[in-house]
Amino acid sequence: MELLMPWMVAIFIPLGLLFGSLANVIIYRLPLMLGVIDEDDSEGAAVNLRWPPSHCPACKSDIKPWDNIPVLSWLLLKGKCRQCGIAIPVIYPVSELAMGLVWGALAWFSLPQWSPQLALAYALLFMVLYSAAVIDFKHLILPEALVFTVLWGGLLLAASGYSMVRVKDAVYGVAVAWLLLWGVMKLWETLCKRDGLGYGDVKLYAACGAWLGCCFTPACGSFIRKRMTNIAFIFRSVRLSRWSRFYFCSDGGRSCRV
Ligand SMILES: [Zn+2]
Repeated sequence: MELLMPWMVAIFIPLGLLFGSLANVIIYRLPLMLGVIDEDDSEGAAVNLRWPPSHCPACKSDIKPWDNIPVLSWLLLKGKCRQCGIAIPVIYPVSELAMGLVWGALAWFSLPQWSPQLALAYALLFMVLYSAAVIDFKHLILPEALVFTVLWGGLLLAASGYSMVRVKDAVYGVAVAWLLLWGVMKLWETLCKRDGLGYGDVKLYAACGAWLGCCFTPACGSFIRKRMTNIAFIFRSVRLSRWSRFYFCSDGGRSCRV
C-alpha cells in the first residue's frame, strides 16, 4: 500500500481539480435551476447541470474544451474570455485548485488506513458539502438534491461494506442526529418564540449521521471522531458564517430565514 499511495495521490489531485470544476457548475447552476436567482438571458427555466454547454455569460460564446481545463486554462487565458476579454472571476480556479489539494491531502493522509474506495467516497462527500456550503452562504438555501446525495451516499456506502460504520450504525446515526437537532430547533422556537435553525440544517445534520454513525452526535460526548469528522468540522465552520449572518440580520434574522 505504501508503494501504491503516491500513485493514488497523483490520481486524486487531478480528479479533485475536475470535481472542483463540477462544484463550480453546481454552485452556479443549482440556484438557477431552483429559481432562486434569475439570469439575464432567461435561461433559468431550462438550465440544468449539463445544458447549456459552458459559455461566457457576457458574449455567450461556447467555451471550447481546451479553454475549460481546470486552473490551467484560466492561467493561459490570463483570466479573460478568449472571445470578448471579460474577466473570469478568480474564485473559479481557486476553487478547483483547493479541491485538488484537499483531495490529494485526503488521499495522502487516509490511504494507508483507508481503502481507495472509502477515500474516494469521502472526497466526493467533501465536494458535495463544499458546494452546499457555498450555495448556503450565497443564497441561504440548502438544496435538497445535495442533502439527499449526502444521505443516500452515506447509507449506500455503509450497505456496500466500504464505510467505517455498519449499516445499523448509519441508520441510527441518521435517526439520532435528526432527533437531536430537530429537538434543539423546536426547543429554541418554544423558548424564544421565534425561528432559530432552518429545517435544512436539521436534514443535513441527519444526513451526515449516515456517514458518521450515532457516535457522531454531541450527545454521545465526542464530536471529533477519527479523521473523517474533519470534513464535517470544516463544513460546520463554514456554516457558522451563515448562522452568524442569521443572528446579525437587522430584523433579528427573519428576512434571512431559509
Ligand atoms: Zn466572452
